[in-house]
Amino acid sequence: MRKFERKAAPECLRVNAKKYGKRWKIRHSKGKNWNWYEYQNQQNEVVILDTLYPLTQNHCAFCDIQKVIKGQIRPTIEHFYPKEKYHFLAYRWNNLFLCCDSCQSYKLAKFSRKLLKPDSLAYDFDKYFMFDFETGEIKPNESQSLHTQARAAETIKIYGLNKDSRPQARLNELEYYIITPFPTLVDFSYRDFIERAM
Ligand SMILES: [Zn+2]
Repeated sequence: MRKFERKAAPECLRVNAKKYGKRWKIRHSKGKNWNWYEYQNQQNEVVILDTLYPLTQNHCAFCDIQKVIKGQIRPTIEHFYPKEKYHFLAYRWNNLFLCCDSCQSYKLAKFSRKLLKPDSLAYDFDKYFMFDFETGEIKPNESQSLHTQARAAETIKIYGLNKDSRPQARLNELEYYIITPFPTLVDFSYRDFIERAM
């Protein structure tokens, strides 16, 4: 989970986040499905995605796979605080993250106070995590306090960061990076893994 800096919210959210949240709460109470509203004839979903892409250079904010853009890895907008419970945060800019389909489907509406946020000022990858370069797995940093390790473990579990072929995918990407002449890190997935392996 690579740290990034959040920039200003798109206008549609600056103007309407509160109103949309109220509207969604009512809609949800009637059993209706989630939808992104429109602002000045533009789909909010499209505008929000366009504003999110550069923050992580089209990488998933949680597993760092790229390219999370239309036509490649399906982009989704992750609600860090689940919209089903935290209605008023559903359109809050700070609650929205660019996310790949896999991370989204592992997390669903799960939430824990221990979860780490990649745009938090206090977040530091090496404080919380370390890698096993043999297996490609991401692990809590064993030199830290139990509380710090518990936060990392919960984040790994909820976003499924070691699920299925993900550890192997990190190893494969590292190999691909090594054999690429003059590689540019931003063009690769799992940048934290590659940087620490080199
Ligand atoms: Zn992901």
